[in-house]
Amino acid sequence: MTNSVTIHPALDGGIKPGDAGFSGGTLVCACSSRPVKVAIKGQIAHNHACGCTKCWKPQGARFSVVAVAAHENVTVLENGDKLAVVDPSALIQRHACKECGVHMYGPVERDHSFKGLDFIHPERFEKGGWAEPGFAAFVSSIIESGVDPSEMDGVRARLRELGLEPYDCLSPGLMDYIATWTARKSGALPS
Ligand SMILES: [Zn+2]
Ligand SMILES: [Zn+2]
Repeated sequence: MTNSVTIHPALDGGIKPGDAGFSGGTLVCACSSRPVKVAIKGQIAHNHACGCTKCWKPQGARFSVVAVAAHENVTVLENGDKLAVVDPSALIQRHACKECGVHMYGPVERDHSFKGLDFIHPERFEKGGWAEPGFAAFVSSIIESGVDPSEMDGVRARLRELGLEPYDCLSPGLMDYIATWTARKSGALPS
């Protein structure tokens, strides 16, 4: 039985598999005049649904859809004057359009395992073909956005039905990646 819990408008109808030949594209903000355009070279990685309160999501969506691209593959093409950093103290320097609010790209510049990666929202690509999301992160955090805790069983069931294993932080693969970076830095593991 399909449950009717909504996750995100780009995912609620089922997940569209990405195109292995996708070689990048242009992200466009939601402005009808002078939209911000950002070019992404190559396929995106670690695409997932995110329940945190910091990621940009469309009106009414419980989750964002967010992925990473290498910083050198991200280029502002047009109307970059409309961008501003949402929270300069945050790990992810989310560059949002000041008019429509869409986050266009978020580099990690601090010394961190994610340094050199930019977080982007692939639903803003002009065209499809981007790698589909593979899991759901920070699922419990949607409660912080006002979702009633009693809805969580239904939300997790719907995520699993979509093929997005729900995690309350990042996926085990990414958590291991972060911990490995930390262990190499502290000397607990050889670098
Ligand atoms: Zn805009
Ligand atoms: Zn998030």
